[in-house]
Amino acid sequence: MGRGYRIVLTADRATMTDYSGLEALGFLLCIPYRLVPEPIARKLLAPKIRTSKAGEAIIAPYALRKIEASLLVSGFEKSDIVVTTPEALSRVIGPDTRIVAIHVLDPLGLAPVSYTVSSLMGGGDTWTKKFFLELISKIRKLKERYRFKVIAGGPGTWQLRYIFKNLGIDCLIHGEGEVVFPEICRLVLEDKEIPDEVDGGSVPLELIPTIRAPARAGLVQITRGCPRRCQFCNPTMFNFRSIPLDQIVEEIKVNKLAGFDHMGLVTEDGFMYGARGVSVNRDAIMKLIEIIKNQGVNADFTHVSISGVLQGKDIIPIYNEAFNHGPENPYFVQVGLESGSSRIIAKYMAGKPRPWKPEDWPWMVLEATEIMNENYWYQCYTLILGLPGEDEYDVVKTLELIKSMRRAKCWIFPLLFIPMGRSMLEHESFAPVKIFEKECYRELLFTCIEHNLEFSKKVLPLMLRGIRNSLTRRAVTKFLMMSIKAIERTKYEIKSNIYSVIERLSQVKFISPIDVFRALVMMRVLIR
Ligand code: SF4
Repeated sequence: MGRGYRIVLTADRATMTDYSGLEALGFLLCIPYRLVPEPIARKLLAPKIRTSKAGEAIIAPYALRKIEASLLVSGFEKSDIVVTTPEALSRVIGPDTRIVAIHVLDPLGLAPVSYTVSSLMGGGDTWTKKFFLELISKIRKLKERYRFKVIAGGPGTWQLRYIFKNLGIDCLIHGEGEVVFPEICRLVLEDKEIPDEVDGGSVPLELIPTIRAPARAGLVQITRGCPRRCQFCNPTMFNFRSIPLDQIVEEIKVNKLAGFDHMGLVTEDGFMYGARGVSVNRDAIMKLIEIIKNQGVNADFTHVSISGVLQGKDIIPIYNEAFNHGPENPYFVQVGLESGSSRIIAKYMAGKPRPWKPEDWPWMVLEATEIMNENYWYQCYTLILGLPGEDEYDVVKTLELIKSMRRAKCWIFPLLFIPMGRSMLEHESFAPVKIFEKECYRELLFTCIEHNLEFSKKVLPLMLRGIRNSLTRRAVTKFLMMSIKAIERTKYEIKSNIYSVIERLSQVKFISPIDVFRALVMMRVLIR
């Protein structure tokens, strides 16, 4: 494409990758980059996505596929649009390029996992931030030459709010982009002014387009938004919609054609498919499972909720049978636990236990955990530490709950509270790492670490089976086992004097030339 595509859609390498076939590896990019040797980050955690001769990404993040589809249904020509990788930008941008749009997820490393991990590891830019800044630097150089407009959209736009102009970004799109982005593109192509910031709100169900080309990890959205309205969450989420079955089938076909035989069903809670309010719609979920199965593929919800599991527990064995889950093929699923304190649940997330009440939350967590584990569903639970007004009573309640889950097959990840831009708590402060001055927080962190180490050692091989390439799998296993051993060695110090650990970690630099060499040797040994 000598003169370049008119509209170029891209994302940084932390997003424009397939994480070697295991989405969970993306979380390791939330570690400060000085602690993860470059070859491991670039070759194993975020390998490049292949492109066609013309520079089109063979697969792409689901959100970019939706934006691409929104342009096509709005009447733009296919030949004007390209979804591409950071590496192929200079091939697809040229004098005809008018718009370069970036999908942003965690551009400054301020998302909950990045902020927490970076704070506990002595600070420093995460790989997510590094990859974003690399992309921006490349785009700015090309912009100087070709004078196109740069537009950014996606869940991470709040992080850029006060600096986007300095980064050379002309317009930020908050919220959902499928209606507003094509409108902005028209304005640019007609040489009209575009706003600095615009809110795409939530797109009406009938205007959500069907993807036209395959998405990374075979992702297919089944619900958008969430009816539970937690105060720390993005308000765009508050409009809940279930995607019609025929659209889901169309998207499965697109991914299947590209070779995916397992679909990631994008949802905040798979049990809410077809729901009105927060009551599980059993018939709608059964129909969904049946229709997916009829396509000859397996699938899994990306998230479920505690309340959903309790309401829909009789669906779980049917789900397992349909998608082949059992002892040898457990289902790893993300679930928000957030707190063991009913007081905190009532104050910030009263919708989470519905139709039950905040005071029911602790027994709900225990019962849902048991149900899931009995059915080989292993949770990746998140906790939020340091919500405004949280005190020792709340932390002790969470600690008691976690201790009573000692035998549960799950991970429990404590995350520091972040005041996500545009959420109801956006004017609050980030929870500082100094909350660990209090013994109850240290005890909670230690309990989670111990739990996670034990569980990780048991299930790592099962979990890492998702990595396609056996050599990559061995290298990642080695890297994770080394990390587990390092955490095991320091866990008691974390409990007694966490700040000395953080201080020591802040001095560590893995990415000296000698360490890069060591990492390469390690990979070579493993890959031989
Ligand atoms: S349950 Fe999850 S997705 Fe829904 S509002 Fe709460 S945090 Fe957001």
